Amino acid sequence: MFDSYNRQIQYLRVSVTDRCNFRCAYCMPAQGVKLLSHDEILSYEEFLRIIKILSKHGVNKIRLTGGEPLVRKGIVQFIQDITALKAITDLSMTTNGSLLFDMAGQLKAAGLSRVNISLDTVDPERFRQITRGGNLDQTLKGIEAAFAVGLTPVKLNIVLTNIITKPDIAYFVELVHRQPVSVRFIEYMPIGECQVGAGPGIEEIKELINSFGRGSLKSALSICGNGPAKYYTLPQAIGTFGFITPISEHFCGICNRIRLTADGKFKPCLLSNQEIDVKAALRNGASDDEIAKLFYQTIANKPQGHSLKNADGSTRFFRKMSQIGG
Ligand code: SAM
Ligand code: SF4
Repeated sequence: MFDSYNRQIQYLRVSVTDRCNFRCAYCMPAQGVKLLSHDEILSYEEFLRIIKILSKHGVNKIRLTGGEPLVRKGIVQFIQDITALKAITDLSMTTNGSLLFDMAGQLKAAGLSRVNISLDTVDPERFRQITRGGNLDQTLKGIEAAFAVGLTPVKLNIVLTNIITKPDIAYFVELVHRQPVSVRFIEYMPIGECQVGAGPGIEEIKELINSFGRGSLKSALSICGNGPAKYYTLPQAIGTFGFITPISEHFCGICNRIRLTADGKFKPCLLSNQEIDVKAALRNGASDDEIAKLFYQTIANKPQGHSLKNADGSTRFFRKMSQIGG
């Protein structure tokens, strides 16, 4: 299935919940966001029906996200049900890792292929600060568990904010020499009017990485998942660094994804307020063909590129990141 700009749409990002046990400063306000009621959120049966229909229309890759996907009860069975669909060949998850230590084995056994884990700093106090209460140790144990059970390749997501310091970069430089991990730096996106201090730019991070006497970054082949990150490695490293630049160098031209929010809206683009209400259709008895039509309509609406900045530099998104599924 191709959109109006000849991009093949194969990838559905599914936000299974808007709930989260963290309150990351770049993602949501300190007081949290107004949560959806039980009835507003799609049931797993509803998600599965949509996925099944879309899998007959070219979708073969699914990423589960949230909110925090691991806080929703029944996620392991849901994963098992998705993996039972032959057309879905890649099922991954983005998680804050806080619950992974206990769940990694079950997730792997259910058929999850791999995880991306958010890790913005390795300083316990700064971690608590940016996540507003998170426990670094738990997340680090979750990352180890992901490696231990083979939820690989493990990718770490670091949003570039002023929370990151030189010792964090030193840690990541050591880590890519110890583990086949992909450490990815993501430019902060000003979604939902959340406030966070500006961090270093990508070039600054690259210079820092090059400053630890472990050689200089060199371009690397992209790794499994084939997303928008540009990958680099160091001479003796077994892992890679990735840089994701939605702001300074957007990658809309290769965007192959559609999103489904926890409250049942198709979104053609993360950075667009456009939504199509698939939940209403489902609950009003729509046929599979009618649901597929909404998917086609979403693809037809997919903008050529995002318009993050208005003329006055402001942006007004209806949703915070945790309500879309980053
Ligand atoms: N709770 C899970 C997590 O944190 O990994 C999944 C949901 S979270 C919204 C998905 C990803 O979006 C995370 O990697 C997070 O760092 C990223 N993210 C959240 N807000 C962001 C922002 N304003 N700019 C860039 N990335 C953001
Ligand atoms: Fe929760 Fe993820 Fe948002 Fe952090 S980034 S508040 S862990 S949804």
